Order: sequence, then structure tokens, then C-alpha cells
Amino acid sequence: MTYAFPPPRTPTAEIHGTEQRFPVRRIYCVGRNYPAHAREMGSNPEREAPFFFSKPADALMPNGAAVPYPSATANLHHEIELVVAIGRGGRNIAVAAAPDHIFGYAVGNDLTRRDLQTAARESRHPWDVGKGFDHSAPMSAIHPVAGRGHVERGRIWLSVNGDLRQEGDVADMIWRVPEIVATLSTFFELQPGDLIFTGTPAGVGPLQPGDRIEGGVDGLDQLHMTIAPLKD
Ligand code: MN
Repeated sequence: MTYAFPPPRTPTAEIHGTEQRFPVRRIYCVGRNYPAHAREMGSNPEREAPFFFSKPADALMPNGAAVPYPSATANLHHEIELVVAIGRGGRNIAVAAAPDHIFGYAVGNDLTRRDLQTAARESRHPWDVGKGFDHSAPMSAIHPVAGRGHVERGRIWLSVNGDLRQEGDVADMIWRVPEIVATLSTFFELQPGDLIFTGTPAGVGPLQPGDRIEGGVDGLDQLHMTIAPLKD
């Protein structure tokens, strides 16, 4: 068997404390999972069923990346999120069993073309161009559960050029990580290599070329990134 052209490389993520890489299969994301963010997006933060969207795996960007300002938007937003890395697959996973499927945790930024996402929402179109664009998933190294344990609480925050913009606690999630894994596995068979961005706390806002962004979750590697300056 030969390929008509070289197949794309498998995207991979850094793993804290080892040279081994985490091969990424899919990137799932959860919408509106913190009450204060649901309110700032004009929604009622009731415990409606969690809903999901995706980004392509090759949208992943390593820690320290300079992300180009995306085309076709005038309102690029940051969304700092706890990311769950799946190490063992499964379908219809029980909530109590979900932690056993988790390889580790990382910090991600669910970059969003807010203007296109809002237009899509209002016209009932898919979110792909607002959420799943190139370079839209910067992420720090994955901390394996084996070393750090599970992340159930802790400060989550993001700053832009040193100004704190987002702050919350992972414990404030409307749907907790095991519930997210269990529900997602009723829609898709999860596989090792899947990543789940678990939603963002309040304070989302715009980014500009040249901005320096830092974000974190207690106990995980901080995420550092910049929006690349525009070329003249
Ligand atoms: Mn998000």
C-alpha cells in the first residue's frame, strides 16, 4: 500500500516529566460549564445536559506558541480551560468508572472567533468556523494522574499582558469531569488520545496581535502563549 501523498503527522502533546509524547486523536469541548460564564454569554446556568463541540486534532498548539491572529474575525476571544486527556477508551462509561479512563490533565485555551460563533448561534448554524479553526487549541503539558492525582478543585485563571481577566475554581463546574466523560461516551466511543476541553470560567474577552497570555490551573504547568504581531 502506498499513499498518494505523505499522510499528515499525528499531532502530539507534551507529557510532564517524560520525553514520551501523547498522541492526539480527537479534541472535544464542553460549552457553558461554569455558571458565571453561562450568565455572561446570556444563558441561564441551569443544569441542562452538557453539550459538546469539537476542534480538529491539528488545531493543537504547544506551550509557548505564538498563535497567528486568525482570518475572518475581528473578535478573537480567550477561554482558559482544564483539559482532560483520555488514556483508556470506552463507550457508556459509568460516572464512577470515569476517573479510570483519564490519563492526565492540562491547561488549554479554547480560542474562539466570538463574532462568528455568535452569528452561528443566532442563525442556528454549526459552530465550526467559530471554534474549530487552525491553531485554536493551545495547551500546556499533560500531568499524568499517576504523578499528580485527579483535578477536582483549584484556582483556574488567565491574564493578558499581566492583567487578570479570568478567574474561577474548577470545583465550580456545572458538570464535573467524571460526568463529562460519562456523558460524552454515550455519544462517541472514547479512545486513548482524546482530549476534552471542559469549559471556561467567567471573564472571556478579546485578544489583539502582540498580546502575551498566561493561564493556569493549580498544580498544573502554566500555559504561556502570545498572539503573533501582525506583519506589515
Ligand atoms: Mn470553551
